[in-house]
Amino acid sequence: MSVSPVKVFKFGGASVRDAPAVRNVASILRRLRGEKLVVVVSAMGKTTNALEEVHKARFHKKDAAEELSIIRKFHEDIIRDLFGDNQEPTKKANIFFDELQNIIVQPCSDNYDREYDRIIGYGELLSSAIIQSYLQQQGLPTFFVDARQIIHTDNRYRDARVIWEKSDIAANAIRALLVGDNMVVVQGFIGCGPSGEMTSLGREGSDFTASIIAYLLNAESTTIWKDVPGMLNADPKWFKDTVKLDRISYHEAIELAYYGAGVIHPKTIKPLQNKRIPLYIKSFVDPAAEGSVIQENMDNDTLVPSYIFKKDQLLISLTPKDFSFVAEDNLKEIFEVLSRLGIRIHLMENSAISFSICLDEDEYKRKCLFEQLGDRYNIRYNNELTLMTIRHYDSKTLQMLTENKEILLEQRSRHTVRMIMR
Ligand code: ASP
Ligand code: MG
Repeated sequence: MSVSPVKVFKFGGASVRDAPAVRNVASILRRLRGEKLVVVVSAMGKTTNALEEVHKARFHKKDAAEELSIIRKFHEDIIRDLFGDNQEPTKKANIFFDELQNIIVQPCSDNYDREYDRIIGYGELLSSAIIQSYLQQQGLPTFFVDARQIIHTDNRYRDARVIWEKSDIAANAIRALLVGDNMVVVQGFIGCGPSGEMTSLGREGSDFTASIIAYLLNAESTTIWKDVPGMLNADPKWFKDTVKLDRISYHEAIELAYYGAGVIHPKTIKPLQNKRIPLYIKSFVDPAAEGSVIQENMDNDTLVPSYIFKKDQLLISLTPKDFSFVAEDNLKEIFEVLSRLGIRIHLMENSAISFSICLDEDEYKRKCLFEQLGDRYNIRYNNELTLMTIRHYDSKTLQMLTENKEILLEQRSRHTVRMIMR
């Protein structure tokens, strides 16, 4: 059985946000008929955010029914638009809605992240069911694959780690389907934990799924379809004069993604780099345009400054209450708590008597952190901050971007400057 060459495509939430968007996906795929394609899809539009609200309501013992009915209606409208009176395609979606309905009335444990992962992946399950049915109806031979049967993970909920060997064996199920001109549609973002429960790979994790599958299938390439023309040096939402980076090395792309360049999830690059699989970033609005490619070669890494902003940041500083210096054993204790709470640090700094960390604002986790460290540390924090990173900075832009800003913390290296500001 020949399984190569496979291409892996990933369509994010914006590319499947409504019925016309789904039709556009079909038209992109129709042109590639005959290729062996695995299509990884995200939840439609802002569904994942809405599911987060369902989770929060349930966790805090409030009624989540209202929130859920909005999500249901959103998907039903898309289904009606795509399929008219044909009831068949709604069957699978209905099963997922019934499951969700069941979960929200079940008792909730006090494991926040685990309960989150029981709910959050339904956006992907719904979108993949709808999209697969639509492609099939359009005459494209497609199979629905449940990522929970392929991507095996540990139980670090909301940030699950892939168990590669087990996933590799499970990927045989996809290999078996990729014969002739069959396509496979699979959910991004989700996996299956040690006891068969749903896990998730972190927000925006569908890119990572595409990369995992490309790795497992030794794909020839991976393409992420975006609403931007490629990898840009800044988010066009905030900057008007953006520059497209045409060819970027894995190394540079990892740096940019790590600092928060929204265009790709930071974990995406490594598996591709290990197998030298090129990653294309292309526009679903203009599929014929060239886009960007991330690959091994570093010669073309442009040195134009790239700007990355993380909003809603929290800067916390911890000072030992016993007036001691911040030493290794304090750091060990702090990191243990951070790791247990699944808090990711974006930047840190220590002085003799305090340790500062910058993280995403998350009220619940902040509360837990304060509870667990508050008896031994004086904790101060500032919120509603922005973490700005400029890669390949120059003094002119730096000055422009920091004008009238209060800088709370700054770190500089040869290529990169990072500032927490208000
Ligand atoms: N739907 C998930 C999210 O919005 C995963 C993804 O889109 O990549 O975070
Ligand atoms: Mg997304």
